[in-house]
Amino acid sequence: MYTSIANHGLTVKDKLIENYYILNQIVQSIDTGIAVFYEKQLVHVNNEIRRITGRTYKYLENNLIEIISKSDFFKMKRKFIGVLKNYSDKEEFYFNIIMPSGDTKTLRCKFTVVRIVEKKGVFAMVHEVSKHYDNNQLNKDDLCSNFAHELRSPLNAIIGFSNILNDDSISTDDRTHYLKYIRNSCISLLHLLDDFSDFNKLQHNKIQIEEISFDINNLFDELDERSRMLRAELHKDDVDIVCIKPLRQPSSIVFGDAQRIMQILINLVSNAIKFTSTGSVTFSYNITQGSLVLSVKDTGIGIPRDMITKIFGRFTQVGTVKTNNGLGLGLAITKNLVELMHGTIDVKSEEGVGSEFVICLPQKKPIHISSSDKSSGAPEFNFSGKKILIAEDARINYILLEKILSKTGATILWAQDGEECVSLFNANRDVGLILMDMQMPVKDGYTAAREILKIDPKVPIVAQTAFSMDDERERILNTGCTDYIAKPIDRIELLRKIASVIR
Ligand code: ADP
Repeated sequence: MYTSIANHGLTVKDKLIENYYILNQIVQSIDTGIAVFYEKQLVHVNNEIRRITGRTYKYLENNLIEIISKSDFFKMKRKFIGVLKNYSDKEEFYFNIIMPSGDTKTLRCKFTVVRIVEKKGVFAMVHEVSKHYDNNQLNKDDLCSNFAHELRSPLNAIIGFSNILNDDSISTDDRTHYLKYIRNSCISLLHLLDDFSDFNKLQHNKIQIEEISFDINNLFDELDERSRMLRAELHKDDVDIVCIKPLRQPSSIVFGDAQRIMQILINLVSNAIKFTSTGSVTFSYNITQGSLVLSVKDTGIGIPRDMITKIFGRFTQVGTVKTNNGLGLGLAITKNLVELMHGTIDVKSEEGVGSEFVICLPQKKPIHISSSDKSSGAPEFNFSGKKILIAEDARINYILLEKILSKTGATILWAQDGEECVSLFNANRDVGLILMDMQMPVKDGYTAAREILKIDPKVPIVAQTAFSMDDERERILNTGCTDYIAKPIDRIELLRKIASVIR
């Protein structure tokens, strides 16, 4: 039934078999990993793919999705579907796989569409990424891809529900619900942007750590409030929130960057709530041997032993198929921030039992717990006989500052803009300190400070600002200001700063 091929005595079938044999030898021996998909099903892999992945064809046929790193899964899926739909070749991309040892390996891949009879198939060419590959580029690729994916769901919700809200016939109850979804989606977007921005800043060493004194109890009160809101948003009614504050003022006054410590705790607490369905999330602090020790403990799903050290890596999420939101950056940012504060972070976890993250932050200045400290109440500050000039355009902020200073005995002068500040100083050269708002009408704080320092280079100026820009601290100190304090103003910190520089 087969036609004989002249001079060779071979049938067409023989020739096909021979060609297949030769082609297969080539495909098996080249050092490019090749995988062929037919109707989205893996139908062929060569030796190089088996070597790169450390798995057999049989294993890959049934568990391919399982070996792709969770944070790359959607990127792969998008590329695969994209190439099938457009019927064209696409550029190379990078993704991570989990090796049998649990280690992560980075691969470079290119998909090409192939026609297999009448159907479309996909031909994947895969290479291991050499250690010389530019890691920054890889991070950027991953970050952009993850970021684009994570933006999609909140944006969809915002656009979708905003459209529905145009419909006059929806009930007030439904309207309230939809507005809540929109609000929550906006909050998710903000968190994503924050993580994205912090990750970038950390990569370029652009995060500066403050060293100010603040009351850790106030920070824990806010953390408690935010955790309860988060619990409500995530519908975790069966999870108890437990906030432990063992010390009272002034023993609870610590040194550090309150805003960044809050960011670290919120990261840990939101993970704890996210990964706990019943039981509790407990956060507490203590001050031992010159260190501030912070703990966040949960009774959640726990972390597999082989993943414990890996979760602090960028884009790492436990497992392989992504089920939770987030960029997988939270713990990487947390660890970086702790290290910037010269601290340590440890985790103890047992699957099915729960996890505890413990952070230890050294306290530069010794924390004295003297017998008088045991009583509550703020330390006394006495500035009687001293003059403090407050430059502040917002009346409400001035009233707050005046209230803070009212018991110190200082004489207070108020200038409502930079120009008034310069003339008031000219008329009162005995001013012991100027509290300068940097953003003021008519003449801003920077110009006013420079003019005043020309008149009297020794007058202490403490700048007050919201620190909205990265380079603001540097700008303030370059102007010649003695010190700065961040808004919202912490009362004790302000009084301490004034006490240390007032003349
Ligand atoms: P993500 O944005 O995914 O939350 P993170 O860096 O904060 O990224 O966390 C990385 C991964 O570590 C999480 O996806 C989760 O798998 C695991 N993880 C973090 N905290 C916990 C916890 N308290 N319990 C269980 N798993 C956790």
